[in-house]
Amino acid sequence: MQNIQVFDDCVHELSRLPGVGRKTAVRLALHILKIKPEQAYKLSDAIKKLKDNIKFCKECGSIAEGDVCKVCSDSHRNKEIICIVEEAKDVFFIENTGRFNGLYHVLGGKISPLDGIGPSDLSFNKLIERVEKLYIKEVIIATNPDADGETTASYIGKILQNVSNLKVTKLASGIPIGSHLEYADEITVLRALENRVNL
Ligand SMILES: [Zn+2]
Repeated sequence: MQNIQVFDDCVHELSRLPGVGRKTAVRLALHILKIKPEQAYKLSDAIKKLKDNIKFCKECGSIAEGDVCKVCSDSHRNKEIICIVEEAKDVFFIENTGRFNGLYHVLGGKISPLDGIGPSDLSFNKLIERVEKLYIKEVIIATNPDADGETTASYIGKILQNVSNLKVTKLASGIPIGSHLEYADEITVLRALENRVNL
């Protein structure tokens, strides 16, 4: 590709997105050049609006329009049960089943020694604080069933083991080992939730 700074800058920014390599970034930049200006501006406006208006909920870490998300501020939710997930996107998969009425806690990732992610990089302190403050009766661990997800699940079990009157469960292994919540269909997620097992 010839060196045109403006084009290269766009490719550079696109290639910083997760899962987008340089080749894909070039393809996307060329695509943006081809589409109508209004369409391209809609994209940049949507990104700006997203950044200006959406935050991570200060309670659970899921996405929110204000400081607190819809789930945390809904008085009809069961505030005695928390489902712990790795990422905000996992909340959508469980919400899609329409059968979970508790709260969530988004860790912001999973313990991954190979990627240099340790417990202090994730929201475990906030989790303990919420479990104690809300007098939570059950936490459901819904980390993914891969090696790092299992390490994270054991760690959660360990840090919560001394909290009195707390049941710690995890999703049943209906979701194939190594796969992620996002690749499981709603029925599978629902079954894993309903058939959860004690940790
Ligand atoms: Zn929330």
